[in-house]
Amino acid sequence: MVIYTVTGKAGNEGYLDIAKSGDISGKNIYVNMTNRCPCSCVFCLRQTKEMSEDNTLWLREGEPEVADVLEQFSHYDLGGIRELVFCGFGEPTERLDDICEVIDELKKTYPALKVRLNTVGLANLIWGRDVTPCLAGRFDTVSISLNAPDAEEFLALTRSRFGLPSYDALKEFAILAKAYVPNVVLTVVEKVMPEEKIEKCRRIADELGVSLRVREFEE
Ligand code: SF4
Repeated sequence: MVIYTVTGKAGNEGYLDIAKSGDISGKNIYVNMTNRCPCSCVFCLRQTKEMSEDNTLWLREGEPEVADVLEQFSHYDLGGIRELVFCGFGEPTERLDDICEVIDELKKTYPALKVRLNTVGLANLIWGRDVTPCLAGRFDTVSISLNAPDAEEFLALTRSRFGLPSYDALKEFAILAKAYVPNVVLTVVEKVMPEEKIEKCRRIADELGVSLRVREFEE
């Protein structure tokens, strides 16, 4: 499933293909263009292959071409949606050029489109350079999963292929992104993180000059 809305229900029922989503005005529309990710988080369903392939967000037929994604969008009016969100079952910045191309094309028709990137914040390590200038004029919000209050715990949870330097790279990505994106947010999940660690994450966000959003825990 490439373009979808969320229902608020748990599991696969939580995602609804845009074709089955009815009136999309006022809704967030999510775009899922890759299965690839530099991490293999201990809490991610991708870690069980069976579950991954069973998940409606797993792109069984491989990554869609940009033209295919735009063709799917061409059937819908994005004029009244709340936000277009790049996220899904992989890390969107693995296809940074392609998602930028999708946004550029859509903004020709919808110049006021609000766009958010949900990311693990490792794009500069993935690409081996500072890619944050690509975010300018394309994204209104970049939401980065902080996951942990320090580098060791981050690595233990995400098992990033970039190792221990991942955490500092994430924080640097947040700082650099601020120059190009109006709203840069770090996120953690309530309940999975004790309050004192959330406080530490809040201090990190303050130091970086971004906000911290404590996301609701979903079973
Ligand atoms: S960063 Fe996201 S998609 Fe990648 S393994 Fe972690 S939870 Fe899954």
